Amino acid sequence: TSSGIAWRKQHDIVCNPSNFDPILGFGEVEAFPEELLQEIARSGYDSPTLVQSQTLSVAISGHDALITAATGSGKTLAYIWPMVVHINDQPHINPGVDGPIGLVLTPTRELAKQVFKYASTFIQSIGGKAMEVAGGNRGTWELTKELKKGCEIVVSTPGRLIDLVKKKGTNLKRVTFVVLDEADRMLDMGFENQVSSILGNIRPDRQTLLLSATFGKRVEKVARGWLKNPVRIAIGRTGA
Ligand code: ADP
Ligand code: MG
Repeated sequence: TSSGIAWRKQHDIVCNPSNFDPILGFGEVEAFPEELLQEIARSGYDSPTLVQSQTLSVAISGHDALITAATGSGKTLAYIWPMVVHINDQPHINPGVDGPIGLVLTPTRELAKQVFKYASTFIQSIGGKAMEVAGGNRGTWELTKELKKGCEIVVSTPGRLIDLVKKKGTNLKRVTFVVLDEADRMLDMGFENQVSSILGNIRPDRQTLLLSATFGKRVEKVARGWLKNPVRIAIGRTGA
């Protein structure tokens, strides 16, 4: 709508295609379960950041998206909240059923840990569970035991996830929502083939979101293979 166009112009935001009006208040999100709204309030978030306003609108409608926004702009929750909605919309969270529904890949363990904290807080609000499997202190056996008890969101680095799947610690059969966080750094670190191999084992009708602080030819190229008709969201000028 014209108000959406004015909002994007005011904040130097591009959204292509442009038919996704920003969500300016958490209360506007019809798909948010009450428990999630309560947890957002408890966590002290009053309103969405710019990247969250635009991404919530696109991601909750089920589209793939390629999102570029500066570090510190709030990208983590821009994808965690839609992931929680997606999981909440499944026929039922099936305790004891093997394999996550939501998967977040990060370039480093440190980032996986940070993302896990957010994922855990918000998935717990609807009775689900998140696990971070990239860390070094728990072995495959221990992780496998915990994963088998049921887990809706897995956060991992690409290499560790491949290893865990190979050892039958978990499986990707139920995954329908995938996030590639800091995709530019994953490419810098040489993870392109690992990410491609993971995505090749996930059902093609999944929803995929790719986030990056920078945008360039390499991100553009991998996005073509990893995403399906992605909506492009750029907050401010994020390069090349
Ligand atoms: P990015 O991934 O874009 O670098 P983060 O997701 O790490 O950014 O978020 C940066 C900071 O902003 C974090 O401290 C986070 O808690 C905070 N934040 C996220 N969303 C909101 C919000 N809606 N209101 C206020 N602070 C927020
Ligand atoms: Mg981030």
